[in-house]
Amino acid sequence: MHCPFCHATDTKVIDSRLVAEGNQVRRRRECLTCNERFTTFEGAELLMPRVIKQNGDREPFNEDKLRKGILKALEKRPVSMDKVEEALTHINHALRASGEREVSSDLVGEKVMQELRKLDEVAYVRFASVYRSFKDLNEFREAIDNIDQASKDKI
Ligand SMILES: [Zn+2]
Repeated sequence: MHCPFCHATDTKVIDSRLVAEGNQVRRRRECLTCNERFTTFEGAELLMPRVIKQNGDREPFNEDKLRKGILKALEKRPVSMDKVEEALTHINHALRASGEREVSSDLVGEKVMQELRKLDEVAYVRFASVYRSFKDLNEFREAIDNIDQASKDKI
């Protein structure tokens, strides 16, 4: 990283140690140009990004709200609560791992749809029709076809 004193581009690490119970790395650096020393702290950023709504408002990610939406789509469907929590974990993980500070509500919706699609096709279609209009009619037909196929398989 650049030297904060003279802005030279070459600095070298002269000491590196774990701090904050191993959640951060503290590094002593020395500038190769002006020989000033400084310290940096490095930690993983695993904060949940904020959600950008359709109207541009930002709001904190709300897991409860997401759970309610998923459960509503899964009403009277044969999917266990364990599976729902698993899906929520996947969504949380994907959003954290994105490293973005803000994500659009569309992106969150798409993650939910991906997970619902794996859990239950009917719930997937319900969710998609409520939260987002299908991109095109073919996508909708495809989803319906899959459901038809799935119910035939059971007969
Ligand atoms: Zn310097």
